Amino acid sequence: ATPTSIMVATGRAAELGILFRQGDALHALRDVKLVALDKTGTLTLGHPALTDIEVAPGFDEAEVLSLVASVERSSEHPIARALVGAAEARGLAIPQAERFEAVAGFGASAEVKGRRVAVGADRFMAKLGIDVSALDAARTRLAEAARTPLYAAIDGRPAAILAVADPLRPTTAEAIRSLRGLGLKVAMITGDNRRTGEAIAAELGIDEVVAEVLPEGKVAALKELAARHGRVAFVGDGINDAPALAAADVGIAIGTGTDVAIESAEVVLMSSDLRAVADAVRLSRATLRNIG
Ligand code: ADP
Ligand code: MG
Repeated sequence: ATPTSIMVATGRAAELGILFRQGDALHALRDVKLVALDKTGTLTLGHPALTDIEVAPGFDEAEVLSLVASVERSSEHPIARALVGAAEARGLAIPQAERFEAVAGFGASAEVKGRRVAVGADRFMAKLGIDVSALDAARTRLAEAARTPLYAAIDGRPAAILAVADPLRPTTAEAIRSLRGLGLKVAMITGDNRRTGEAIAAELGIDEVVAEVLPEGKVAALKELAARHGRVAFVGDGINDAPALAAADVGIAIGTGTDVAIESAEVVLMSSDLRAVADAVRLSRATLRNIG
């Protein structure tokens, strides 16, 4: 492509709300075979809310939620905010927690009123040696409904299964359809539960799900997809997406995402509307149709 046609294309992109931070990206995008997207905050709004809480026999729902919120008040995780918000909405007391500890990709724990309280994914419970198999049926049911199941344990005993749901962005489904209409494969990379990821992917017509990925595992997941499919673009919003944005053939950050994500990406969408990803691919193909 001539410098002029690249300039015209990047100007047109800007009108569509797409910022090409590097001219090369327009070229790389043309040859992409697969678009991988982060789930939380990219496909979804990133504002989960509590949908379910089922306590084990002998536990009181309000008390469990109050203890869980105490732990989560010290966490920055969107799930933590959902749980604190739910406790506040119910007017529950949120006592002071001590010795708070977050384990990225797993959950968080602390001491509240002399009790050891842990909240997180099933793998967090496994790490702590807490048997939650009695809640397996509930977990499957919640995950198949596209909700994220979480466990609360008190003094080493399973106390409740909870679930949060994070609504899809309103244009996500159309955006995925457009990408597939361009002949691209679409994948989701998420730290969330496998069944939850698969339920959301099925709703959206996403080809492949890489689930239960630890924050530091996103780059490896992306490379594995690239090995099988060819050039990959990665779309993300979060701090933990920055390495994958940098490692992808084309990193695409959502403009409403974190600064670290934006700085790591070659392409930035002005809005959080993922339909712009397909617009960018179309533009790159039209601009560079006949060039090697
Ligand atoms: P993602 O943002 O893709 O969901 P994370 O790596 O942040 O991935 O978290 C993966 C999983 O670990 C979450 O789905 C949740 O089950 C659990 N988790 C992580 N942090 C917390 C927390 N503070 N409270 C409860 N669960 C958590
Ligand atoms: Mg995210």
